[in-house]
Amino acid sequence: MLKTVNLTYKYEDKTVALKDVNVDLKKGEIIGIVGPNGSGKTTLFLNFVGILIPTKGEVLFNGQKVKYRKKYLIELRRKVGIVFQDPEKQIFYSRVYDDVAFALRNLGLEEKEVEKRVYNALKTVKALDLENKPVHFLSYGQKKRVAIASVLALDTEVIFLDEPTAGLDPYMVDIIVDIIKEIKRKGKRVVISSHNMDLIYSICDYIYVLNNGIVLGEGRTKEIFLQDEILKGANLKQPWLVRLHKNLGIPLYKSEEELYANWNKIKL
Ligand code: ADP
Repeated sequence: MLKTVNLTYKYEDKTVALKDVNVDLKKGEIIGIVGPNGSGKTTLFLNFVGILIPTKGEVLFNGQKVKYRKKYLIELRRKVGIVFQDPEKQIFYSRVYDDVAFALRNLGLEEKEVEKRVYNALKTVKALDLENKPVHFLSYGQKKRVAIASVLALDTEVIFLDEPTAGLDPYMVDIIVDIIKEIKRKGKRVVISSHNMDLIYSICDYIYVLNNGIVLGEGRTKEIFLQDEILKGANLKQPWLVRLHKNLGIPLYKSEEELYANWNKIKL
């Protein structure tokens, strides 16, 4: 499993984007990295997947330091995938099928295996009907799903999703939430960065709160969202469901469904 140990990252222009960050992916199945814009979420993800090299500290994979050599990094990419915030950065081919197949063909997989993986991945992201479409004519939400499918097809153990719902309408957000749950059901570890607290609350079981490159707090989702000072420190709002529970003075339920199911037991 992946973790960072006292990770510090400084960009060339001397911006210190991460300071002594310790994040351990073992702590949850769906991990949330939350923080306002510029808090260091993307930089953390890029360090985790070996695209950026830590200035100080290290990234450990299965207890071993990540080595920044081509051969090692190719192996790492087979186990750890990332979906960038901007799906355009992940599009290489004009037809959806070929785009999802691209990295698999690069790995030298047989065409039969490529086909199986492409269809499985497109099915998971509910995009089988897009198979023959030219990628450049897809809507933003469709591009986002195809970008997720390209990474899913690689069958990595861990998937980082950088702001997976940014720029999407509420209907598409629900679809992405279902896709993330499905990825978890397939036994993969998912790491999501977001400043959408409702999304994070509904889906993550462990959270790290980042602000100005520093981890302000970490813990189980419900515990973190009850700590006003940590959220305020990072300029984050409590999820609406947590605010509702607090205002009604009732125990905290994880989802709307759970709240409704227990409604009869609640004394207002
Ligand atoms: P987030 O993903 O939380 O919005 P980022 O990791 O993108 O945060 O950015 C963290 C900090 O690093 C910000 O101050 C940002 O301006 C800076 N930063 C990001 N990319 C670069 C870059 N390529 N060069 C210099 N500074 C950068």
